[in-house]
Amino acid sequence: MHVVIIGAGIIGLATAFELQSRGCEVTLIDPTSGQGASRAAAGMLAPAGETTWGQGILHELLGASNELYPDFVRRIEDVTGRRPDYLQNSTLVIAAEPADRDALHDLVELQNSLGFSAETLLPSAARRLEPALASNIAGAVLCKDDHQIDPRSVTGILGELFADRIIAEAATELISVNGATRAVRTSSGRIVEGDQIVLAAGLGQVPGAPKLPLRPVYGDILRMQGPARYPLLSRTIRGIVHREAVYLVPRKDGSIVLGASSREDGNSQVNIGHLHKLLDNARRLVPGIVDCSLNEVIARARPGTPDDRPLIGRVDESLVISTGYSRHGVLLSPLGSALTADLVLGAAANQDHAAAVDPNRFAGRQANEETPAPTIMEMHR
Ligand SMILES: Cc1cc2nc3c(=O)[nH]c(=O)nc-3n(C[C@H](O)[C@H](O)[C@H](O)COP(=O)(O)OP(=O)(O)OC[C@H]3O[C@@H](n4cnc5c(N)ncnc54)[C@H](O)[C@@H]3O)c2cc1C
Repeated sequence: MHVVIIGAGIIGLATAFELQSRGCEVTLIDPTSGQGASRAAAGMLAPAGETTWGQGILHELLGASNELYPDFVRRIEDVTGRRPDYLQNSTLVIAAEPADRDALHDLVELQNSLGFSAETLLPSAARRLEPALASNIAGAVLCKDDHQIDPRSVTGILGELFADRIIAEAATELISVNGATRAVRTSSGRIVEGDQIVLAAGLGQVPGAPKLPLRPVYGDILRMQGPARYPLLSRTIRGIVHREAVYLVPRKDGSIVLGASSREDGNSQVNIGHLHKLLDNARRLVPGIVDCSLNEVIARARPGTPDDRPLIGRVDESLVISTGYSRHGVLLSPLGSALTADLVLGAAANQDHAAAVDPNRFAGRQANEETPAPTIMEMHR
C-alpha cells in the first residue's frame, strides 16, 4: 500500500516510520520538514508533571504513550543505526513559595491516583539531587517516570531516513473523486496519488480538507549553554513560581531548554515580556543560569484543540487526519502514530484510545462538516 503523508513534523515522520515498519510504501509532502512546532518543543515526556485537574482521559493517553517510548526509541535505533537523544532521568517539580507548594502538594494525590509516580520531597532532599537549586525553594515533588527526548534528534534522524521520500513542497489541494480523497496537488502543480492519504500538517490548512477545531497556542523557548563537563542540572526541573509555570530541560551536551509560556495573541515572533518572565522565574529556581550563554530564542505555535487531545480519525475511505497534538505531540508520537497506522490499515485499535481522539467528539462539530472552524473566542466560551 502506498500512503501519502502531508506534513513531516514529528507526527508525520513518526507515522511514516510506523507505516513503513508495517510494510507500507510512504511519500511525505512538506516544504519545511521538522521546522514547525516540533522544532521548538522542549521534549518533556512528562505525564506526571503535566497532570492537571479534569483531564483524566488525556492523562490516560499520555501514560500509555510514555510506556511505548523506550520501544519507540529502540526501533528507531534498530532501523537507522542512530539513537535519538532520549534520557530517562526523571523530573523534579519545584515550588518557589509556600503558596506554590500548597498547589503542588494538592496535585500529588491526583498524580498517584492516575498511576503516576510522584513523591513529595523536602527542599533539602531536592537540593541533594540537584545542587544548583536555590536555597530558598519551598517544596518539591519527584516524578521518577517522567523523561525527556530531544525532538530535533527524532525529526533529524527520521528526516534523513525518509530524505528521498519527502517532496519539499506545500500541499495545496486534496483531490477527491466520488467523495473519496485520491490525490494531493502540490505547490508546483504535481499530483501525488496514494492508496491512503494522511493529513498530519499540524496547524497547516489544505483546501479540500475538513475544517478542524484547531488554534495556535504560541510558546517562547530559550536555549542556553552551560558547561558540558559540569552540567548545571541532571534532570528536568518544572517549577511553579508565583503560580506561573516554568521548565528547564537539560540536554546531554550541557545545554538547557527553558520555556513554558503559552500565548494566544496571534504573534508568531518571540515575545520579550514572556521571555523576561521565563528568565526571571527560572533564575528564582536555578540562580546559576545567569552564567550560561544564549544559544537561541524561538517561538512556535502548538496545534491546540478545545480539550488538548489530538484529532485522529478517518474522514473518508482514503483520508485519515492526525493533528491537534497541542502541548503533548512529542510525548504522544508513539501512540498517535500507532493509532493513525491502525486507521490507515484498518487494523484493530484500542477502542478507548480511538474514542478519546475521535475528531467527531465535539458535539455538533463533525470532522467532515463543511462549516467554518470555530474562532478562538468560541473555543474559550
Ligand atoms: C514551545 C513549545 C514547547 C513544546 N514542548 C513540548 C514538550 O515538552 N513535550 C511534548 O510532548 N510536546 C511539546 N510541544 C508540543 C509539540 O511540539 C507538538 O504537539 C508537536 O510538535 C506537533 O507535531 P506535528 O508534527 O503535528 O506538528 P508540526 O511540528 O508543526 O509539523 C507540521 C508540519 O506540517 C507542515 N505543513 C503545514 N502545512 C502544510 C501543507 N499545506 N503542505 C505540506 N506540509 C505542511 C509544516 O511545514 C510542518 O513541518 C511543544 C510545542 C511548543 C510550540
